[in-house]
Amino acid sequence: MVKRLLIANRGEIACRIIRTARRMGVETIAVFSDADAGALHVRMADGAVHIGPSPASESYLDGAKIIAAAKESGADAIHPGFGFLSENAQFAQAVMDAGLTWVGPDPASIEAMGLKDAAKRLMAEAGVPITPGYMGEDQSLDRLIPAADEIGYPVLIKAVAGGGGKGMRRVERKEDFSAALESCRREAKAAFGDDRVLIEKYITRPRHIEVQVFGDRHGNVVHLFERDCSVQRRHQKVIEEAPAPGMDEVTREAICAAAVKAAQAVNYVGAGTIEFIADATEGLKPDRVWFMEMNTRLQVEHPVTEQITGVDLVEWQLRIAAGEHLPKSQEDLRFSGWSVEARLYAEDPARDFMPSTGRLEIFDLPGGVRVETGVERGDAITSFYDPMIAKLIATCETREQAVDRLRAACEAVAIYPVKTNAAFLARVLGNAEFRAGGVDTGFIERHGEALTRSGEPSAQVLELAAQSFLPEGQGPWQRLVGFRMNAEQRREVRMRFGDSLVLAAPPSSDPASPAHLLPPGEKGPLGPAFVHGPQAPNSRLPPLPFSPGGRRWPRSGRMRGAPRTQAPRLIRKSPHQALIAYGGEVFAFTPDRTEASHGAAAGDGAIAAPIPGKISAIAVQNGQEVSKGDTLLILEAMKMEYTLSAPFNGVVEEVTAAVGDQVTEGAVLVRIGEEGR
Ligand code: ADP
Repeated sequence: MVKRLLIANRGEIACRIIRTARRMGVETIAVFSDADAGALHVRMADGAVHIGPSPASESYLDGAKIIAAAKESGADAIHPGFGFLSENAQFAQAVMDAGLTWVGPDPASIEAMGLKDAAKRLMAEAGVPITPGYMGEDQSLDRLIPAADEIGYPVLIKAVAGGGGKGMRRVERKEDFSAALESCRREAKAAFGDDRVLIEKYITRPRHIEVQVFGDRHGNVVHLFERDCSVQRRHQKVIEEAPAPGMDEVTREAICAAAVKAAQAVNYVGAGTIEFIADATEGLKPDRVWFMEMNTRLQVEHPVTEQITGVDLVEWQLRIAAGEHLPKSQEDLRFSGWSVEARLYAEDPARDFMPSTGRLEIFDLPGGVRVETGVERGDAITSFYDPMIAKLIATCETREQAVDRLRAACEAVAIYPVKTNAAFLARVLGNAEFRAGGVDTGFIERHGEALTRSGEPSAQVLELAAQSFLPEGQGPWQRLVGFRMNAEQRREVRMRFGDSLVLAAPPSSDPASPAHLLPPGEKGPLGPAFVHGPQAPNSRLPPLPFSPGGRRWPRSGRMRGAPRTQAPRLIRKSPHQALIAYGGEVFAFTPDRTEASHGAAAGDGAIAAPIPGKISAIAVQNGQEVSKGDTLLILEAMKMEYTLSAPFNGVVEEVTAAVGDQVTEGAVLVRIGEEGR
């Protein structure tokens, strides 16, 4: 057995491997770049070696440095995880040449499956059904155009060296073929250094179904059933599940047998995945499933297979690498229940899924589901690596239960100020078409807006925020109920949400004046103060009615006993800010003190980053007096500088940022206390 394992990866996969290794009594060595010096995988491992600067090309992708780190730390084996060098045959060979155990397939198997065209040819020879198409050596236009005609439009042009959804073009009509080919080749050349392509029949309403396989060094290959990964965005998986909905025994038998045949054809050793594409226009049928490609590594979505089979796939990898036989025969392998995984990303669905970086000031992941993550509260999401924060995996007896549980888990995610796709995931899981089972890869595109729209704060959220700004001891609304209203005496809580003004008035006394958001500018002096530089896009929100008053809100903000998905939660409360988590999103409110500040163009003294960026200078210190308009700090973003200045005369109460920090939008950088308050 392996004694000391170096993990040539980072984040959640490194942590995942460490857990199993530890259980098996295998020592672990982490590697890390500058950006990951304090990362969770480094803290978890028994030892760690620094391998270079933050960019992956100078650290995690530098095979020589990793092998040197293994030697230096006395490791006897290397696990590549997934991504990075996991499917690099040269690296696998170099590891073996250095006298180390490679936890993965033979370099020859990686190579055989590395190019899509060669892999397809090989599979066809082995009798595995492949997507109809052209995969010849002749790459001339004179050959490709007739080939596309013969296949019949629509067709898909794919870079033979492609991966990660890159280098693919769908072509609807013959007229568009040449242009699409050109652009596909350009992308392939840039991304993979190889501009050769293959052409496939474009399958309409395709489902992505893949089979987990495992081989040992004694000629045995088994499958561990299928996964469905059809919910994709731009050809990237978002939700994965096992088994596949609508899969009948006959079709399962057929594709699992084809997968085993495919693995045998390349003498496969270790964990691998055979990806198929299914034409599911009339449900899953054994003769409508075709080989797409093989991934010669562990997959991101491997946990759903583990959950339904009870097999620890990383343990199997280590055993096989040590030369052991497969721990189970095909007859011994069974599955039960249903498991669904959602990939939680640091990105903003409302802004075309732009990655969101920064420190995880609030990082509240739900219970009741398996969580795979490489970060903890206080850690940073940087722009150097994949923005995946965590995988949430729910396993229940039925699909419906697992989907419900995962949806509730996504809704309970509270992360701030980094933006996440949690609410988006929850909407996918709540979608009727998804719940009916058997969605195809066009699902997200088809539902677009309905899934990606960023949630507006509901009346409940507004109410909770407003209540949090009332002085302690004042019951939320009870005290206001029966309050005699007139224009002058009226009590209302004034808050800001983004650049909108929220006026929250007591409910029962004045039904004609509900809590609502005012768009910026509508109230004259209340226009957004204290941010110089481009403003965030206006959120023009419709008036929202208050829900009936008299509700009791627990002071802790936690809805103990109530289903977490049902009620908004106050997750941070200070005089400067209220953060409310609801439905997977975190809504940030600041009190608006315009009137209290005697006409000055003031707002709350919490100076937040208007956009994600890097702090390039800080002009103030704690305790320093500042005058309105004084420069506080400079934020660098998208090659521009933004000066953040004091909104009013006051004292610097807190500087929470440091020069060089990468900050997310909305992160509070400085707090100013107002003079005389
Ligand atoms: P990559 O290696 O970049 O991941 P794949 O060949 O695995 O590329 O394909 C990625 C995704 O593209 C699939 O999961 C599927 O959604 C879509 N796709 C691939 N081939 C076809 C096809 N012939 N017809 C329709 N969609 C396809």
